[in-house]
Amino acid sequence: MKVGIVTLFPELFDVFLQVGVVGRAIGRGVVKTQIFNPRHFTQDVHRTVDDRPFGGGPGMVMMAVPLLDSIAFAKTWMKTENVCHPKVVYLSPAGEKLTQAKAKSWATEKEGIIFLAGRYEGIDERVMTQVDEIISIGDYIVSGGEIPAQVCIETMVRLLPGVLNDPASAEQDAFSNPDGILDCPHYTRPQSLVHDSLAEPLGVPDVLLGGNHETIRAWRRKQALGQTWQKRPDLLENKTLDKEAKRLLEDFEQEFNNHKG
Ligand code: SAM
Repeated sequence: MKVGIVTLFPELFDVFLQVGVVGRAIGRGVVKTQIFNPRHFTQDVHRTVDDRPFGGGPGMVMMAVPLLDSIAFAKTWMKTENVCHPKVVYLSPAGEKLTQAKAKSWATEKEGIIFLAGRYEGIDERVMTQVDEIISIGDYIVSGGEIPAQVCIETMVRLLPGVLNDPASAEQDAFSNPDGILDCPHYTRPQSLVHDSLAEPLGVPDVLLGGNHETIRAWRRKQALGQTWQKRPDLLENKTLDKEAKRLLEDFEQEFNNHKG
């Protein structure tokens, strides 16, 4: 997977591309990245990349030519990497909201993506002629498209084969698991948690200590269904649950209501 990033702030990617899952993917050669700074595609002595908006109003707008040149150069780089049809993705609050399904489609369908990070009031609208997809990370505003691009890259890269040490961990993640719901709770040592901030020691559900894989699987599925019912009921709407899932969720709801009562 080849990833091009068009940004005025390449330094924001210095650490991001080196550590964790993304750093490992690059280290293993699963992902190759290249940054394109529109400032390098300016002709004037001040290396101007933004200007006042036509029609007046606050803020500055990213100029079209340095962005178009950056995208064209990124596409040339993609070609040298044998990617003939990279997708250009613009990060914008006006875009389609990023989902696990979208990241999965990038990870499986595309060999090259160019992420375009806006700044200021955004980009000259005419650059949109070169954009294939517009993606938002949510209904709020950050100051630039760099963090949204990093969210997209991180989400996609962990789904690429050979990146996670144990691929099963992505398969049990929220939204990625076969039920498309939240993940179950997790526990690790110590078995009995004692801490000044706790009124009493906290243990671990017995089922996780019993070593019975089938009972543990069913417990985890029940908890995942229950968490989803409590925290994200929208994920269960219009979902056809199989027989086991229905029974587990009914049990969870009953236990929850009994506990409340
Ligand atoms: N005036 C713009 C608007 O209301 O849509 C906001 C521009 S914002 C300060 C600057 C850049 O940050 C945008 O061009 C976009 O690239 C990025 N950005 C901000 N919020 C975002 C979000 N929720 N999702 C994706 N990109 C975002």
